[in-house]
Amino acid sequence: MVLFVTGLCSFHCFYCPVSDEKMYKDVVFADEKRVTKDEDVLEEARAIRATGAGITGGDPLDAVERTCRYIRLLKAEFGAGFHTHLYTMSTDAAKIRQLAEAGLDEIRFHVPPGLWARAAGSAFGPAGRDHVITARMDELRAARQWIERQTAFWERAMARLKDDLEG
Ligand code: SF4
Repeated sequence: MVLFVTGLCSFHCFYCPVSDEKMYKDVVFADEKRVTKDEDVLEEARAIRATGAGITGGDPLDAVERTCRYIRLLKAEFGAGFHTHLYTMSTDAAKIRQLAEAGLDEIRFHVPPGLWARAAGSAFGPAGRDHVITARMDELRAARQWIERQTAFWERAMARLKDDLEG
């Protein structure tokens, strides 16, 4: 499903493909369906049996709170495996962190043409690395919690077994 979260955008790319109906207007669409309430997003996702969402605009980071709300909404309804990826031209680290915390799976930076030859040395380099590091940290944290839960479970099981054998 294509989730167009806002037509707002601080850029004016000469090749911008967004229609006049949506561009620079704070409107939301799920595919071609106009969204006026959260349930509209879920209805469209159910109707097309979506397994993920491509989040676009405008710039979704210009409506970051709303974008985070939709990510949480979709994951709560369809499960953590519902894949979300997002397109942006922004490198705002605080907003990217918010998105990662909301559960965004993938971010795709739309590098402005003037930076194509030197993107890695621009703000897009660290922004991409920070996002990857945040995602990896979350994975490691989840793995550590899983190991701790498993260890506690087996310790309790072994203690019970020992009690049974000795008692
Ligand atoms: S960043 Fe995207 S939405 Fe904004 S003007 Fe450029 S192409 Fe259009």
